[in-house]
Amino acid sequence: MSAAGERIEAIRRAWGGRLVILGHHYQRASVLEHADHIGDSLELSRKAGSAKGAERIVFCGVRFMAESAVLLGGEGQSVYMPERTAGCPMANMADEDQLEQAWRDVTASGGKWAPVVYVNSAAEAKAFCGRHGGSACTSGNAKGVLEWAFGSGRKVLFAPDEHLGRNTAADLGVPDEDVALYDFRAPGGGLVPAELRAARLVVWKGFCLVHTAFTVAQIERVRREIPDAKIIVHPECPREVVSLADEHGSTAAIVKYCDAAPDGATVVVGTELNLIERLAKKHEGRIRIKALNPSVCANMAKTNEENLLSLLEQWPETCRVTVSGAVAADARLALERMLSL
Ligand code: SF4
Repeated sequence: MSAAGERIEAIRRAWGGRLVILGHHYQRASVLEHADHIGDSLELSRKAGSAKGAERIVFCGVRFMAESAVLLGGEGQSVYMPERTAGCPMANMADEDQLEQAWRDVTASGGKWAPVVYVNSAAEAKAFCGRHGGSACTSGNAKGVLEWAFGSGRKVLFAPDEHLGRNTAADLGVPDEDVALYDFRAPGGGLVPAELRAARLVVWKGFCLVHTAFTVAQIERVRREIPDAKIIVHPECPREVVSLADEHGSTAAIVKYCDAAPDGATVVVGTELNLIERLAKKHEGRIRIKALNPSVCANMAKTNEENLLSLLEQWPETCRVTVSGAVAADARLALERMLSL
């Protein structure tokens, strides 16, 4: 272990149960060595809430995750991030004003509507959703949340990830022509009222840079070069990539798929590289795991042992993550609705 790593461990021992370090699956291995829990964003936020006696939570991930830990965390807990500039470009593609404008646009077209926001969004976006009777969702439960919204007789405005929206709609058998794309940079979302009236689902034109780096050409190459390989991709990948893969699913589903793969199999995975490398190591000698394309989240990579150590030694207020009271109350509504479904 590095010198910085040894010091981190000494601080962890001194704090005991009063300190909990959470590490997202996409973090580098040298950071995850120090995590009490490794998981996806929602799983980790729930760990924060259930960590009785934990005074300080350190979230090694990106800002929206730390905000969710604040929203779902326990009384008297403070949440910190080692690198305060670690944000998510996709979450930043949907701000509150843009969402409120979109809400005015879709509701003006008539019919009843529900907003659904992916947890990969800012607290303000979740608050918008909670205020208008909608629900948050994860990549693992998006199907159930959309079923809930459609089941209540409403049409859906889905933000901020176009691809998760389209892929989930396809899983539910919603025809492509019932899905419209809202371009938040264009007046009226670039849609005319007749298009909004015809749509059952309006998806936001946001995307994850990491998962849109996977292409049809990469899948075709794998099919040519390793014909017996199985390909699994994350639903933040474009629709045409997902439709050519053998399987698609959330981070948890990808982990499970690799765990269940038969001995000797080759699994090609389309998601963030750090997770793929960890899975490859875990299954080394049993199955072969390869990246469809080595795609790294630059924001996840901002956290390292050095800034983790510096946080644990100095606890600067600038690294503390907070969510203001009014935003938190509405954002919790969206998260709690999701958890109750
Ligand atoms: S992998 Fe994509 S969605 Fe996740 S934090 Fe990075 S940019 Fe955001």
